[in-house]
Amino acid sequence: MKLTRAQKIEKEAKPTIDALKAKHKECMICGWPRIGPRYKGPGHLSSIVAHEIANGACRLAARGKPFATLILCGDCNSNAVTDKATWPAERQLAVLLRKAPEDYDLTAYNQIAIRKIHQEDVDTWLTN
Ligand SMILES: [Zn+2]
Repeated sequence: MKLTRAQKIEKEAKPTIDALKAKHKECMICGWPRIGPRYKGPGHLSSIVAHEIANGACRLAARGKPFATLILCGDCNSNAVTDKATWPAERQLAVLLRKAPEDYDLTAYNQIAIRKIHQEDVDTWLTN
């Protein structure tokens, strides 16, 4: 059976996503499970997930790209970052720059993102 474009991207992205999860082991925003207060019981937030900073039409292009990925707990992924007013891409990129500077690449990010991000706007969040 022929894979859809999304299935093909998912298959290609999996090794990178698995490697990122193995490398970070905790939520880049709240620190769960090691230091975060958000754990609410077995099963509720029992895994960390890969979150694409570029979403909407760009999400598939961002899947499995370390420069566009945050490793988050279920809570931050489902609640925090869905609020774009509080968590714009600039702020998410600042988290990536702090937690995984080796994966941060704004030029590469801007090649897949529709809304281009300026470094000064990411820098603003580094101090907040
Ligand atoms: Zn979290």
